[in-house]
Amino acid sequence: MIQVTKSFLPPFEEYVDYLKGIWERGQLTNHGPLVLELEKKLAEYLEVKHVFFVTNGTLALQIAAKALGVKKKIITTPFSCVATTSAMVWEGIEPLFADVDPRKFTISPDSIRNQITTDVEAILATHVYGNPCDIEALQQIANEMNIPIIYDGAHAFGVYYKDKPLASFGDVSALSFHATKIFHTIEGGALVTNNDQLAEKISYMRNFGYNGPEDFFGVGINAKASEFQAAMGLSVFPYVDEIISNRERVVSNYLDVFRGSELQMMEIQEGTTRFNHAYFPVVFSSEDSLLQARSALQNESIFPRRYFYPSLNNLGYVTNNLRQDVSTDLASRVMCLPLHPELTIEEVTHIANLILQVGC
Ligand SMILES: *Cc1c(COP(=O)(O)O)cnc(C)c1O
Repeated sequence: MIQVTKSFLPPFEEYVDYLKGIWERGQLTNHGPLVLELEKKLAEYLEVKHVFFVTNGTLALQIAAKALGVKKKIITTPFSCVATTSAMVWEGIEPLFADVDPRKFTISPDSIRNQITTDVEAILATHVYGNPCDIEALQQIANEMNIPIIYDGAHAFGVYYKDKPLASFGDVSALSFHATKIFHTIEGGALVTNNDQLAEKISYMRNFGYNGPEDFFGVGINAKASEFQAAMGLSVFPYVDEIISNRERVVSNYLDVFRGSELQMMEIQEGTTRFNHAYFPVVFSSEDSLLQARSALQNESIFPRRYFYPSLNNLGYVTNNLRQDVSTDLASRVMCLPLHPELTIEEVTHIANLILQVGC
C-alpha cells in the first residue's frame, strides 16, 4: 500500500534523549526549555525576529488575523487547504475570493485588483505546494490599500525566494508543522513575524492573554505547544535538508517518466532560489481522466489525494461572492501523487506508468 504521504520519523533514540530531559525537569508544557530552544532555532533558520510555536497551523491563522485586528472581511485564495478559509469563517471573518493563476496556482494579483473592495482588511495568500506567491505584486497592492498581508506558509518550509526564507515575507506567516508537512512536530504550527508590536500581541494572545500571573493584556486563547511536540521538532529539524533532497530525487524520478507527456505540472514562481518539493501535483486534461487515473492507482493500493478539492469558493458555508473559474477548474483536475523519501524508483515508475496507460 502506498499513501500520498508518509510522516518522517527521526531515529527513536534521538527523540528519547529529549524525553529523558523532560522527565528530569518535570516540565511538560508552558514555554519550557525545549519550546524555547525550538523557537530560537526556527527564528535563525527562517531569518526572522519572532517565531511563536503553537499547537497547529489553523490556530496560527486565527491568531494572525486577530492580532492584525481583522474583523470582517479578508481577500483570499480559493485554492488551498480548507483551513485557510475555515479559520477565517470561524473567526467571523468573511472571505472574499480572488482567482488564482492557471500555471502557478497561487492567488492572482490581477484578480485581487479586480475584486478588492475598500472594506477588505487584509490579504491572506497561500504559498500553495510551496510555490511562492507573487510577493512584490501582492506587497504593492497591500501598500496601495494600506492593509497587511498574512501568508499561509503551511507548505513554505525550506523554500527560498530571492535567497531569503519564504516564511520571512509579509506582515506575518502562519506555518503548519502537522505530521504530513516537510518539517513537523506531530501537530504544531508557528506564527512568524519581524514586527515587534505584532509579536507582542501574539505572545499574549496565544497564552490566554496572560500578562503576569494575575493580570490580562486582553482576550486570548490557548495555543501553547508542549515540550513533547518541541522534542519531535528538535529531533526532525536536523534532517530537513536530507528530507528535501530525498523528495527531490523522487520528483525527478516522476519527471523522467512524464517527460513528453500531456500532463500539466506547476510552474515554479520566478525568483525561487530553492524549492522544497512538499507535494507533487499533476493536472489532468479533464476531471474524468483524473478519476480514471485515481481508480487505476487505487486498484493497486496506491492512494493519491485530490489536494485541493473542492475549490474553497464552492464550500457550502461561504457566500460565493464572485466567479473563480480558474480555481474551480483547476481543483477539478489536479491530484497530488504519492511523494515521500522512501519511495523507490520502481514504485515511482510504476505509478507514473499507470497514469500514462490510462491517459491523461
Ligand atoms: C496543513 C495546512 C493548514 C492547517 O494546518 P494544521 O497544522 O493542520 O492546522 C493550513 N493551510 C494549509 C495550506 C495547509 O496545508
